[in-house]
Amino acid sequence: MPAADVADGTVDRPLTAGGPATGRAHSARNAETPRRPCGPDRDLERIERVKKQAIAVFAAILAGTPLTAARPATATEPALAPSKAHAEAELRVGRFASRNPGSVNTYWIQAPEGLILIDTLRTLTDARQALARIRDAGQPVVAVLLTHAHPDHVGGAGIFHRAFPQAPIYASEASARAMREDRRGLYELTRSLPGSDFPQKLTYPDKVFRAGATLTIAGMTVRTAEFPGAESDAATVYYEPRSRSLFPGDLLGNRVTPALVEGHSCGWLIQLGRLRTSYRAAEVAYPGHGAPALALDLIARQQAYIKHFRHLVKPVVRTNSPAGRRVTRTERRAVIAAMERAYPGHPRVASLPTLMEENVKAVAAEMASARPADLPRICR
Ligand SMILES: [Zn+2]
Repeated sequence: MPAADVADGTVDRPLTAGGPATGRAHSARNAETPRRPCGPDRDLERIERVKKQAIAVFAAILAGTPLTAARPATATEPALAPSKAHAEAELRVGRFASRNPGSVNTYWIQAPEGLILIDTLRTLTDARQALARIRDAGQPVVAVLLTHAHPDHVGGAGIFHRAFPQAPIYASEASARAMREDRRGLYELTRSLPGSDFPQKLTYPDKVFRAGATLTIAGMTVRTAEFPGAESDAATVYYEPRSRSLFPGDLLGNRVTPALVEGHSCGWLIQLGRLRTSYRAAEVAYPGHGAPALALDLIARQQAYIKHFRHLVKPVVRTNSPAGRRVTRTERRAVIAAMERAYPGHPRVASLPTLMEENVKAVAAEMASARPADLPRICR
């Protein structure tokens, strides 16, 4: 299935469904009829297989019956319906992915006292569409969590705030500051792009927490951790430990062309190593862009992408390359072509049409200004 089908402006097809795409939420615990996998669905199939095995074993232990007697979940289960079985470790997750180019996710998870929304999409239109889906779930949003300050994750906050004015908007101190300062001018840039309906006035977080805080929201415990100097200057990861669900924001994407424009490719590799170490127990990761997948797989693939990018840029910025440390247009095009061969059909995460050109410029400038001897081994 091409990525465009995932990011078609509708909610994701449920992990639980084997029939038509009628469901609106998926569960980290329920498994159902397998679909024929291709593209991003290969990952979903792997998740399904792991979950199905776990459910079968658990059900068999409970019932004292053979594994084959385990009863699967049904495809007609209503969105975000609480599961009677395995409630201790289940997290019901809804997802809305805006359209490509620049598709981005918002997720809503079922807490005991309502829905917690994670990130708010880029545009007002996208947020209104997601809001309509969320209203279908029949429960109020009781909190909004922001993973980072990039425009595609905070632009829709005002729509959700007006719809659910009682729901606090949470962000870490670093992300809240990054929103206020916008020192890279990303909001103005997004407003200036053709067809953008990025808000003229942003809605800012009203619950600012310290780095590493554990939050108790609507009866649910959510752990936070900061991963600065990676995809963005500041970034928060949210982790729901009972279901081992990881919400890494844009530290992870799934089969997408990421934004390396902040020139932290080495920092991102370092933080991905930290992410892997910190969340070895994580099962499913719900990335900022692209479909949910097994967490450790997504981390490994994100590392491989950035390493390959740096591998291609490295000879271009050597002092003995044709233009020395400067990157020529021909060199830039060659890097982009090589990345597209290695990662074909990976839609860009930003609405910026020249994202890849900007990525090459930023990583080249980063690598040209670093002394290899000073870099950690992972970045050499
Ligand atoms: Zn993003």
